[in-house]
Amino acid sequence: MKIAFQTSKYNNTSLIEEIKTAKKNRLDYFDIFFDTWSPEDLTDCEKKYITTCKKEGMIFSIHLPIIDYSKVDENFKSYIEFINEIIPYSVTIHFNTLSYSTIEYFLASINSKVFFSIENTIPDKNFLYESDYLTFMKEVSSKYNVYSTFDIGHCVVNKYDLIQYFNSIIDSDIRISTFHIHDNDGIQDMHKALGEGTISYKKLFNEYKKTNLDSLFIIEHWTNNCMSLQALRNEK
Ligand SMILES: [Zn+2]
Repeated sequence: MKIAFQTSKYNNTSLIEEIKTAKKNRLDYFDIFFDTWSPEDLTDCEKKYITTCKKEGMIFSIHLPIIDYSKVDENFKSYIEFINEIIPYSVTIHFNTLSYSTIEYFLASINSKVFFSIENTIPDKNFLYESDYLTFMKEVSSKYNVYSTFDIGHCVVNKYDLIQYFNSIIDSDIRISTFHIHDNDGIQDMHKALGEGTISYKKLFNEYKKTNLDSLFIIEHWTNNCMSLQALRNEK
């Protein structure tokens, strides 16, 4: 199972320390979430460290910032440059403001080996096309080479049955490159460790094993992330 920790702006820990924590936990994958920051903020030391880790076999994934993706913007360039430098496993982008022209722009700009992966958000609506995630993904998957980042926490806050929803994605031939893993009470997007909320994640893993997916599981919280890691490792 491919598992990653993700950077967090809330943990008072440097990027290098975060990656070191992932290494200590024997993780081969690490997700860089540009949460209100950009590749231009990376220090030379951090860039060097990322390059060294990459050479040693670590595989990165990228979470693009939560900004407006309805129009192609000059600011996208620094992310694209960084993506093409580190060739991540996947690049995740939120679907709620995403336009077809922005999808086309990213697909034309990033290395074709990288999975361009679109995430379900709260509320479940793309504001440009007035469509829900499943409708949007069916449409764009038939047109473009795109993948799903399936956020299990967002799914249940949007009041869907996790297993039914997962199976709808699979039955629609939408390819899940990446899962976002965290737990909550079904009401608030708490980003807690698996087992600290009410999400029936074990049932989901059983369904996942029935598919031929080989997705990346990104633990999308920092507090008690080893708890989620253990829960995922128990599923092997
Ligand atoms: Zn997420």
